[in-house]
Amino acid sequence: MNTTVSDVEIKGATKQFGSNIVLDAIDLEVKQGELLTLLGPSGCGKSTTLNLIAGFLEADQGDVYIKGKKVTKVPPYKRDLGMVFQTYSLFPHMTVYENLNFGLKLRKISKAEQKEKIDRVLALVKMSGLEHRYPRELSGGQRQRVAIARALVVEPELLLLDEPLSNLDAKLRHELRLEIKRLQKEIGVTTIFVTHDQEEALSLSDRVVVMNAGKIEQISTPTSIYKHPKTEFVFQFIGKSN
Ligand code: ADP
Ligand code: MG
Repeated sequence: MNTTVSDVEIKGATKQFGSNIVLDAIDLEVKQGELLTLLGPSGCGKSTTLNLIAGFLEADQGDVYIKGKKVTKVPPYKRDLGMVFQTYSLFPHMTVYENLNFGLKLRKISKAEQKEKIDRVLALVKMSGLEHRYPRELSGGQRQRVAIARALVVEPELLLLDEPLSNLDAKLRHELRLEIKRLQKEIGVTTIFVTHDQEEALSLSDRVVVMNAGKIEQISTPTSIYKHPKTEFVFQFIGKSN
């Protein structure tokens, strides 16, 4: 049977902080293996959406499904996901190796298997040989590579990236953007990427979700968003450069 598997589904999610309606009845489907980007200006609700998927926040109304299973009340650690934030989320007192091993230690696997997994994922993000460094001994770009490696080492169903490149300089941002795209296709992990940078979104994604003030304006491929903006907001926002 030819059914399209959707890895994540949000149905009618509304979230309010005080009197501020931050998400207004959002519907979203993320397909298996795709790289979907949430794009929109600061404050439009991108991180809130990601946090609903991760389970750090619960919607006031609506539900979240992962692999068809309702997870609205399931805590983050049971959702099988890897997450990377804008600011460095590495443990400063642990080496690269220890950072990566943190999540693996909970698994019942041998030391040799741990090492094998860590070596493999460090090679993927081009950080082989640096496993004994501390985060302070790495550049910003290297730290984000390690943060991505740490999210991937547990082989999550879902990878959530919240503006992982925003703190890097333009050249590095561009370089790492291409790396993430390559890596995502190589591993095939379903990925949700958040950014306020339209160029980043258009160059990286299989599909882009343009958000504005708690609502979804358009969901489409980069080409289609670029060529056929559905609303005045999308037209204006895509036309702007950073
Ligand atoms: P984005 O990631 O698109 O910049 P957010 O999802 O972080 O936007 O925030 C959307 C809106 O919700 C903003 O107006 C923000 O100030 C507000 N907000 C986010 N988190 C909280 C919170 N914990 N308490 C109150 N307001 C919040
Ligand atoms: Mg945000």
